[in-house]
Amino acid sequence: MAGLAAAEELVSLATAATQPSEITLVEAAGRVGGVLSTVRRDGWLIERSADNFLAARPEAVQLVERLGLQDQLVGVDPRVRRALVWHEGRPVPAPQGFRLLAPGRIGPILTTPLLSPAGKLRMLAERFVPQRSSRADESLESFVVRRLGREAFERLVQPLAAGIWTADPARLSMAAACGEFLAMEREHGSLWVGERRRTRSGSTPSAVGARYGQFLTLAAGMQTLPERLAARLREQGVRFVDAKAARTERLPAGGWRTSFDNPSDGDAAIDADAVVLAVPAAVAARLLASVESELAADLRGIEYAGSAVISLGFARADVAHPLDAAGMVIPRRARRRILAVSFSSSKYPGRAPEGCVLMRVFAGGALDPDVVRCDDAALEALARDEVAELLGARGTPRLVQIDRWHGAMPQYHVGHVERVARIMERTASLPGLGIAGAAYMGVGIPQVIASGQAAARQACTR
Ligand SMILES: Cc1cc2nc3c(=O)[nH]c(=O)nc-3n(C[C@H](O)[C@H](O)[C@H](O)COP(=O)(O)OP(=O)(O)OC[C@H]3O[C@@H](n4cnc5c(N)ncnc54)[C@H](O)[C@@H]3O)c2cc1C
Repeated sequence: MAGLAAAEELVSLATAATQPSEITLVEAAGRVGGVLSTVRRDGWLIERSADNFLAARPEAVQLVERLGLQDQLVGVDPRVRRALVWHEGRPVPAPQGFRLLAPGRIGPILTTPLLSPAGKLRMLAERFVPQRSSRADESLESFVVRRLGREAFERLVQPLAAGIWTADPARLSMAAACGEFLAMEREHGSLWVGERRRTRSGSTPSAVGARYGQFLTLAAGMQTLPERLAARLREQGVRFVDAKAARTERLPAGGWRTSFDNPSDGDAAIDADAVVLAVPAAVAARLLASVESELAADLRGIEYAGSAVISLGFARADVAHPLDAAGMVIPRRARRRILAVSFSSSKYPGRAPEGCVLMRVFAGGALDPDVVRCDDAALEALARDEVAELLGARGTPRLVQIDRWHGAMPQYHVGHVERVARIMERTASLPGLGIAGAAYMGVGIPQVIASGQAAARQACTR
């Protein structure tokens, strides 16, 4: 997605007659979209990875509009706009108004069965916790335990955050992953105060967010976005090359040469004035190894985690739970093998045939790296056992789809912001180079699109 967004930006720069005129997109996988991939079969629509994007940032919605896909935008069904948390043997709704780290309303915190009386008091006392004097980066776990208490961390924030970043919260950087909440502490001295001011000022998501809620998808699936963009780019004259880049070097006279491992159309290399590397950070490190060893070392230092998504379709009658939420997250302290279950057919229409439900079970992440190495039978058994116990899903699933994502989720460890600043600074010192993708300034689709656009502009700056 980052590479396609970069190509689109290059086309608009070329149209504005600034730069460049010939644009080539090199893709190793034989299909566009990278991680984004949708499977449609027998009335089921299964997202193999991302199933929606945040409406709060404009980049994805604007791209959807530029591609004329706005009629396909779908928000999460208003009846299920809540998350469940597995707690002491049953699914319990997260307190209303609680937003990842920010306790929105006192009433729901006082009444939630998720926290003990002591845990609630500790959370209510957050406004009296002094600000941290140090400006050094801090982990999510350290921040939340310090501000809201260990219980709120273990029972609420850890499971909600694990479903997003699949990260180790003791290493996940507040500055890189949760800058908004860090700013609340710095500007308002408290998450309670910061969140109250935010809701009072009506600073909700964009106009689109207000209309649809926090998350959006496309009716025909997320893959529509890269596919439609690629089709548009082809019409606009972008050349697509099916090859694996092996090396990117600076040419003595200026410009860049990218050489390939397996060129399909005869090109062994492409010379260009500018190059955008929209590949995982480790691949960018390999490509640039001969260009700048310190840049390559910083890129290599970004770790990745894997995860498995096991999609299970059942007859509605075979699932005891009403699935009246967007999904359920499972705290680590519950010692189960899964991170979360997304209730796909409750969230969005057209995900399951009539009379059936679709759920996606997430396992793995930085703290459970072995799961993604399990074979299909083991992953299916694991997911079926868990949904049987957690949601009362019995009988034989009508659909099973297993997707493993080896090393697909970049880990924003403490210090990530500084590392990325070094990477961007070194990149800026190499004229004609841009670096983009989920590894740097946000893993969400809008951020990834923004990174592609910024890298294209960077590469064309002289
Ligand atoms: C399971 C899962 C669920 C997710 N859910 C959500 C969600 O609900 N919402 C959300 O906003 N985000 C979600 N994300 C994150 C989001 O989907 C990704 O961060 C984003 O799609 C990554 O885009 P990218 O362009 O940076 O990288 P990628 O999609 O990884 O693309 C990199 C591309 O580079 C190509 N490539 C690699 N090496 C080479 C080479 N040597 N030569 C040529 N090409 C090469 C690859 O084939 C690939 O096409 C999820 C991610 C995962 C894994």
